[in-house]
Amino acid sequence: VRDGDEWVIDGHKWFSSGADGAAFAIVMAVTDPDAPRHERATQIIVPVDTPGVEIVRPVPVFGHAGRGWSTHCEVKYTGVRVPIDNALGGVGAGFMIAQKRLGPGRIHHVMRWLGQMQRAFELMCQRSLEREAFGSRLADKQTVQNWIADSAAEIQACRLMTLDAAHKIDAGDEARVEVSVIKFYAARVLHDVIDRAIQVHGGLGLTSDSPLSTMYVMARGARIYDGPDEVHRMVVARRILKSFESGGGWRFG
Ligand SMILES: Cc1cc2nc3c(=O)[nH]c(=O)nc-3n(C[C@H](O)[C@H](O)[C@H](O)COP(=O)(O)OP(=O)(O)OC[C@H]3O[C@@H](n4cnc5c(N)ncnc54)[C@H](O)[C@@H]3O)c2cc1C
Repeated sequence: VRDGDEWVIDGHKWFSSGADGAAFAIVMAVTDPDAPRHERATQIIVPVDTPGVEIVRPVPVFGHAGRGWSTHCEVKYTGVRVPIDNALGGVGAGFMIAQKRLGPGRIHHVMRWLGQMQRAFELMCQRSLEREAFGSRLADKQTVQNWIADSAAEIQACRLMTLDAAHKIDAGDEARVEVSVIKFYAARVLHDVIDRAIQVHGGLGLTSDSPLSTMYVMARGARIYDGPDEVHRMVVARRILKSFESGGGWRFG
């Protein structure tokens, strides 16, 4: 709520990634509940040392609390006061700013995941060439060959879909469908490629002697953060069906 020249913030949030060690938080708060739906929220810069800001704890994810940037903190805001000028981009612009940031932000997630896919793929191929079981190399077994071939196809599909979405954004398109498609598709491919690489490594893949176990844990979150798979599928289907309803059909390209 606004009080003269200040915002007064009361709230309780978890999964504030990187809050541990941060100089400031960006709080997205409803500042005008009666405004049109997409103009109700404002983003406000809140220095973390402002009285009333309390980082309660880094919430452990799969048993790991993390440190610094890798934390996902529970944060309480009690009577926190910051100047009105701390509003980012104007009062009521919170949703619009979030939408602008989320598209490129999701592409950025997929770029990092592509690196993880590549690493898992390389580890899988190398291990299959080194390890022998039941009289032949793992690389000579058709099941493993299928995993390698499927992973190669899926990783390349993710790369090209990511480039396509990025090109469309560069050209001034919001690319909402393309961004949502890569968000849920690449999250699944990331999971599956790491999972196959772990399987090829056997017990070793589960240990911390291999990076795969940590990669697997990190990859699971990809299907949830910045919107769970189901929500992105819903966005994709709704937009495509809307286009059909208005007689436009759907062109790939
Ligand atoms: C590692 C990690 C880091 C995060 N960092 C941040 C951060 O920095 N800042 C921040 O604000 N948030 C952050 N989050 C929160 C994240 O954005 C939410 O967890 C995510 O959007 C899902 O919301 P939720 O957890 O409330 O799940 P819910 O909304 O409760 O959804 C639970 C499940 O319900 C199903 N579901 C939901 N909606 C639909 C639908 N429309 N159709 C079909 N099924 C549906 C899905 O299966 C979904 O997984 C982070 C989360 C994680 C895991």
